[in-house]
Amino acid sequence: MSIPFLDLKAINLSQADELQAAFQRVLQSGWFVLGQEVEQFERRFAAYCGAGHGIGVANGLDAIMLVLKAAGIGPGDEVIVPSNTFIATWLAVSYCGATPIPVEPVEATYNIDPARIAAAITPRTRAIIPVHLYGQPADMAPILALAEQHGLLVVEDAAQAHGARYRGQRTGSLGRAAAFSFYPGKNLGALGDGGGITTSDGALAERLRTYRNYGSQKKYHNQVQGYNSRLDELQAAFLSTKLAVLDEGNTLRRAIAARYTELLADIPGLLLPSVPEWAEPVWHLYVVRHPQRDRLAAALAEAGIGTIVHYPIAPHMQQAYAELGYKEGDFPIAEAIHREVLSLPIGPHMTLQQADEVALAVRRAVQCL
Ligand SMILES: *Cc1c(COP(=O)(O)O)cnc(C)c1O
Repeated sequence: MSIPFLDLKAINLSQADELQAAFQRVLQSGWFVLGQEVEQFERRFAAYCGAGHGIGVANGLDAIMLVLKAAGIGPGDEVIVPSNTFIATWLAVSYCGATPIPVEPVEATYNIDPARIAAAITPRTRAIIPVHLYGQPADMAPILALAEQHGLLVVEDAAQAHGARYRGQRTGSLGRAAAFSFYPGKNLGALGDGGGITTSDGALAERLRTYRNYGSQKKYHNQVQGYNSRLDELQAAFLSTKLAVLDEGNTLRRAIAARYTELLADIPGLLLPSVPEWAEPVWHLYVVRHPQRDRLAAALAEAGIGTIVHYPIAPHMQQAYAELGYKEGDFPIAEAIHREVLSLPIGPHMTLQQADEVALAVRRAVQCL
């Protein structure tokens, strides 16, 4: 590929010295799980998000699951999730023994449609998990209003939206709690797996610290049947290093997105991302839509441009969820999105000149379809 979809090697090597220093710090400390590095990163990341508390955990899926668990959600409960999301949002609900209840997205933004949520609420509903998909915040105000009215917990799935803003306010500070992933390819990525939760609810933060560590606050005294889901000192040290350049990376992503939006505006059949006036996305992904998506992807691969489909199969159509009994046509908006979306290269590894090359290749490819 002459322009790869993502280049994690280049991204991390741009901070090689700082990351080596972080490694040395942890090596010399002799302390590897739940220590100073984790505490420091938790404080820094919570402050970055405008939340009172940060809790480091093992990965993004656990981050969502632990919030639901700590809130007492379990078998017999229903949790509203987007029909259009990465499957982890659903799996977190299933792992608690609760049932994911899908709600279709607003077609233009790909995010859960607040106007469709009320119809999905039943006496069993306990929580709503809006996902800030592709780095663009979900429309939180009407979701929070509905949740307030029905006494529901709102957990942001912010795994793709580190630093994004909704009406000027950072993701991670919008719901009762927010779940982040620090998987290497995310806007803030570790050098391995990692996850985090932010919340301004002190009691919930305390319960989450217990749940992530065997259900124990005092060593060998266990209050609840908890998990082993902790962020490593090493990953926390890397994440503090990378948090320092998150805004810089997001700024570059915005510039690349703006370039794509400008250069691809008038191509027939190609649908570009639409940004509501209240949203400040961080462009985890730049997702276009075309009825001949697979041929477009093949033509771009031919031209040396890496693309990925996020995602090819909607969660309700996955074999893993056969037990819920959904069939094709049950969530037609999500299904159409999954048939037509294509993610173009974007990230701090790219230059604006490369964005121009990608845009030109897309224009040529669409013409030849
Ligand atoms: C990446 C991701 C997750 C899960 O994060 P992991 O760290 O891979 O467990 C959850 N939700 C969304 C929307 C994601 O993109």
